[in-house]
Amino acid sequence: MATVEAPTRPHIRLHQGAFVNEPLTDFSKDENARKMREAIDKVRGQLGREYELIIGGKRIKTQDKIKSINPAKPSQIVGLHQKAGKEHVEPAMNAALSAFESWRYTSVEERASLLFRVGDLLRECKFEFNAWLVFEVSKNWAEADADIAETIDFCEYYGREALRLSKVKLDVQMPGERDSLFYIPLGVGAVIPPWNFPSAIMAGMTLASIVSGNTVILKPSSDSPTIAAKFVELLEEAGMPDGVVNFCPGAGASFGNAVVAHPKTRYIAFTGSREVGLDINKSAATHAPGQLWIKRTILEMGGKDAIVVDADADLDSAVEGVAQSAFGFQGQKCSACSRAIVDERIYDKFLEKLKVRVEKITVGDPAENTNMGAVINEGSMKTILEYVEQGKKDGRLISGGNRTPNAGEGYFLQPTVIADIPPKSKLEQEEIFGPVLTVTKSRNFDHALEIANDTEFGLTGAVYTKSKEKISRAIREFHVGNLYINRKCTGATVGAHPFGGFNMSGTDSKSGGPDYLYLFTQGKAVGEKIG
Ligand code: NAD
Repeated sequence: MATVEAPTRPHIRLHQGAFVNEPLTDFSKDENARKMREAIDKVRGQLGREYELIIGGKRIKTQDKIKSINPAKPSQIVGLHQKAGKEHVEPAMNAALSAFESWRYTSVEERASLLFRVGDLLRECKFEFNAWLVFEVSKNWAEADADIAETIDFCEYYGREALRLSKVKLDVQMPGERDSLFYIPLGVGAVIPPWNFPSAIMAGMTLASIVSGNTVILKPSSDSPTIAAKFVELLEEAGMPDGVVNFCPGAGASFGNAVVAHPKTRYIAFTGSREVGLDINKSAATHAPGQLWIKRTILEMGGKDAIVVDADADLDSAVEGVAQSAFGFQGQKCSACSRAIVDERIYDKFLEKLKVRVEKITVGDPAENTNMGAVINEGSMKTILEYVEQGKKDGRLISGGNRTPNAGEGYFLQPTVIADIPPKSKLEQEEIFGPVLTVTKSRNFDHALEIANDTEFGLTGAVYTKSKEKISRAIREFHVGNLYINRKCTGATVGAHPFGGFNMSGTDSKSGGPDYLYLFTQGKAVGEKIG
């Protein structure tokens, strides 16, 4: 294959210095609260706009549309999107393949520089991006801000990681040879994110792909295509060449499925439910006629995350950690605590304190910066309420248990705590993905670890204890990809907490960590005779 000249682009600017996390915004400061209110007003004025598919840089309209709505006010349209169908797979693939021929040879400095520019642009319009998340997925201000800060972190972190990988040196050199290892791109990737971190996860998988030299067909979730459209606009503004990211909202079961199955798809970066992840794994493993490679899959899936509260734990801090992990963003995080496993010696006291804490949580329109907004859609609300009804039979309702009274049309649910849920029962085993926490009594620490490990998932977990010996045991025996000690089990930070789970939680890809970009590249070893 002939080498295609890489286009030269101005403004290569490489960030100097070590990676530093983007600071989170303190909304208790008047200045920040004012900026957030202004951004919300500005974005409110832009709701309902129509967005096109972007294939090879061309804007395309389709007959079928996707309406992205505000879960807090479902009659309010956040964005009207085109719906890519099977007929768009070939054009998107051709555009991505064609862009790959030059993007793969574009210098890593230029690719990293694109990410740094995107990070800079995002910093400038951070409050506006926060506001889009408030409207599109009902995040409160702090949750939205954390999602955007993480997106900026991915720009800065993966940019630096790509530069680091490009300079890898082999320690062993054969006499008379120059021996090198190059991490080269894979090809066209299907990037399929969920709606719950509609900026950070969508952008993270996309940025890791393109900084490594791949090109992408990006199919965002139908619940959150607007934030993805905004992000792609930023990529374009930062100078991304046409066809490097092809923006194609569409149904998972038709368009998504067809992209996964396409013989020219080289890899699939997916984050979402266990069921869909397993389907993608199966489809990707099937060799299609003309397919030259074994497709690579990066699959991050669900969780049933537990916090173990030991008899000697600092109870107030455990209650706070459990409440924040269970009800932040309405419990719709793969890392959310959905099970508290509490030692019988402190069980009653824990529940008493937890009830008081949970009943302070405010629920309502997150534009007003409530603690909890609405759950993502009507289907999800119904499923969660079915779990709650089952829970009322299997256990003892401590607080919540219903839709929020007088909530109007929004999908608002009360934060719900159900105690005395037996190990192995439905609520203790299945991912609910909503504001529902089960509490299970343990006889001792051994028993607590046994219950914690006894699900098919293995994503996050936390242990509250003062005992050094129990901390060591948790590090050794609590089988999760992300374990936290004496702190909440949500809020993984890029660089510090590479994120990804075990077992049915996925392929443990460790996003935001030093191993992540290896998944988007292949190593080419060159032994060159010299002298
Ligand atoms: P989902 O599986 O329903 O959808 C995820 C994406 O897959 C969407 O873009 C969807 O359109 C697409 N899709 C659906 N069917 C498809 C198919 N047959 N082929 C190709 N694509 C298809 O998940 P969701 O409801 O968007 O997200 C919630 C889930 O994501 C939860 O299970 C949560 O635990 C998980 N999650 C995991 C992590 C992690 O890092 N492990 C992070 C966030 C969310």
